[in-house]
Amino acid sequence: MKAGRGVLASVALLLVVGVARAGAQDSILGFTPSSATREAAIEKKFKAIPSPEEEKRQHRVFTTEPHVAGSARNNELARYIADEWRQEGLDDVVIRRYDVYGTNPKKTSLEMIAPTHYRALLREMPVPGDPDSKNRAISSAWSGMSASGEVTAPVVYAHSGNPEDYDLLRNQGIDVKGKIVLVRYSNPYSYRGFKALTAEREGAAAILIYSDPAEDGYKKGKIVPKGPWGPEYHIQRGAITYDFMVPGDPQTPGWASVPGAKRIPIEEAVSVPKIMALPLSWHDAKPLLAAMDGPVAPDDWQGGLPIKYHLGGKRVRAHLKIEMDNSIQPYYVVEGRIRGGELPDEWIVAGNHRDAWVFGGVDPSSGTASMMELARALGKLARQGVRPRRTIVLCSWDGEEVGLTGSTEWGEQFAEDLRKKAVAYINVDSSTSGPDFHGSAVASLAPMLVETTHSLQDASGKSLYGAWKESASRERKLSQPAVEVTDANLADTRIGSGSDHTVFLNFVGMPVLGLQFDGPYGVYHSAYDDFFWMNHFGDPGYRYHTLMSQLWGVLALRLANADLLPFDFAAYADNVRQFVNELSKGKDMSQLDLKPVLDGIDEFERAGKQLNESVNRALASGGLDAKAADAVNHGMMQVERNWLNPDGIPGRPWFKHILYGARFTYAHLELPGLTEAVEKPDWVTAKQQAEILRQALENNAKLVDELSAGLSNAAQPAAK
Ligand SMILES: [Zn+2]
Repeated sequence: MKAGRGVLASVALLLVVGVARAGAQDSILGFTPSSATREAAIEKKFKAIPSPEEEKRQHRVFTTEPHVAGSARNNELARYIADEWRQEGLDDVVIRRYDVYGTNPKKTSLEMIAPTHYRALLREMPVPGDPDSKNRAISSAWSGMSASGEVTAPVVYAHSGNPEDYDLLRNQGIDVKGKIVLVRYSNPYSYRGFKALTAEREGAAAILIYSDPAEDGYKKGKIVPKGPWGPEYHIQRGAITYDFMVPGDPQTPGWASVPGAKRIPIEEAVSVPKIMALPLSWHDAKPLLAAMDGPVAPDDWQGGLPIKYHLGGKRVRAHLKIEMDNSIQPYYVVEGRIRGGELPDEWIVAGNHRDAWVFGGVDPSSGTASMMELARALGKLARQGVRPRRTIVLCSWDGEEVGLTGSTEWGEQFAEDLRKKAVAYINVDSSTSGPDFHGSAVASLAPMLVETTHSLQDASGKSLYGAWKESASRERKLSQPAVEVTDANLADTRIGSGSDHTVFLNFVGMPVLGLQFDGPYGVYHSAYDDFFWMNHFGDPGYRYHTLMSQLWGVLALRLANADLLPFDFAAYADNVRQFVNELSKGKDMSQLDLKPVLDGIDEFERAGKQLNESVNRALASGGLDAKAADAVNHGMMQVERNWLNPDGIPGRPWFKHILYGARFTYAHLELPGLTEAVEKPDWVTAKQQAEILRQALENNAKLVDELSAGLSNAAQPAAK
């Protein structure tokens, strides 16, 4: 097995960087042959520690009670994590407090008052066999960051609530001003905060967002408690925060909301919606939809309920009342570390959010369980004297569900430190809702992510790499049948927003990785996303939780122990070229000369290839000069920082990365400043953004060339 994996790994490298490597059998990107042997032994020890029994035990601790951000239970869990980490041997365990704009429901009610009377339940009924579904602490329906208010108005069905849906309504003579719009969650998917902003811009008084059975209910398959899909009463809670403008505490944009920090007036906070919002189960949406008049909705607006969907606007009237408590409240981030034995001031950061809408069976407690086992395993190794060379920092974030809040505040607080010291951030939000692996990485780390999956074993008996490639091929056949899965495109290098990596990539300028196992999952953010669900559908044997702890740890250890950091800038350049080509596809680009950018990419790619060769030569020689290695590693860390534009992207100054951004829907958006300017089109801005990109490419090509030169000069002959 070992030999087989080694051969595959070297083939992967040939495909990705086109560079042959010496000593392929046990080679690991970034390691000399002797370090690779030592690393393989450490990884073997590490992988033996996480166990399904412990994953399950931890998962139960986190899923016993609801633990929304700011709740007493979530804060108690922060203390629990800190205690566990201290006992397990982590260093410098500390709980950090941030005082943030709170958003908690006080009173919520929805009634249809015409043509008949119906009072919405806004509750999830217990299901047989699942004792947790009877828990009295389960909240009713609510949306994080909804405005408070009261309205009585006609209800309009606005399909998915995207801008084109309102165009269609307008063409049918239906105005939504002052009305309540009823939209469904995903057809196609877009972040609910974008739906809220769109409704707010259209002048609607309120937005109701419901889960149609066509998307995550009985039209997909068996429902809870017989299958993984959402039952009649399931409510997808969630925040509508405009964190695509600026994430984190709305009143401290760009700085940390530590106690006593300066706060801007709430009226000036761009990420706080002015519209009322409420999520609904289909049980509560059905009476409204069934009573609607007006034109019949188009075919692709019809859903999974056994009724004809109409556009409404007149006959159905509803009364909605929402009262929120917005007092300032503390969120807590737990931080711990395994201090590096040789290079303590170089950090690999790994994190997961702790707060859940209810129990958070999948989101995020599966990830929290995996992180607890990761911490235990790293602590155990450290106690045996096996310390990583670099420091591994672990963080349990708070308020991710509200606005990526805890990670954003922490990232803002330590931005200067991180820009000096951080190698990479590895995020796990939900760890497991099934067996299908999805790995994402900034393009420079994609090759090392793919390589690492060769050395892990999937529950099916295949390598994780083999299982990943198989499930990716299956999925790709449906979505992009023309694109064959290769090692160069296996990892997803298109990174949007919607989880805790955002501050590290877009504000700090750190390379990021994201890991998740997926499967059929229809109970997202509902009370049915719980321990029962995980033990019946998601991961009954906790094997994928365990595999996640192993993968997460091996990635962190490779980054922490590498002689030369495993960044591949030739792969990065190739991805940036794809981004630019996609940007110009099918558009009239006569106003914008992209030749200087494309030339800059060629230069950066040439420099990246040369550095790969110098690195491989230096590693193969076995004798690395420590000072030269240090200079090269710090230079490589600087490359990602060089993609930051201090002014940010036009209109969104907090988002500083020029290669990676996100649309308001959370969807990935490459070359955000340039792309948005071209889409408008605004050629003056587009030219400025293209020049910023060209300059960054030039700087990075120059930097990478210097690293190659430094490495060649310092290369020492032959291993001892
Ligand atoms: Zn989550």
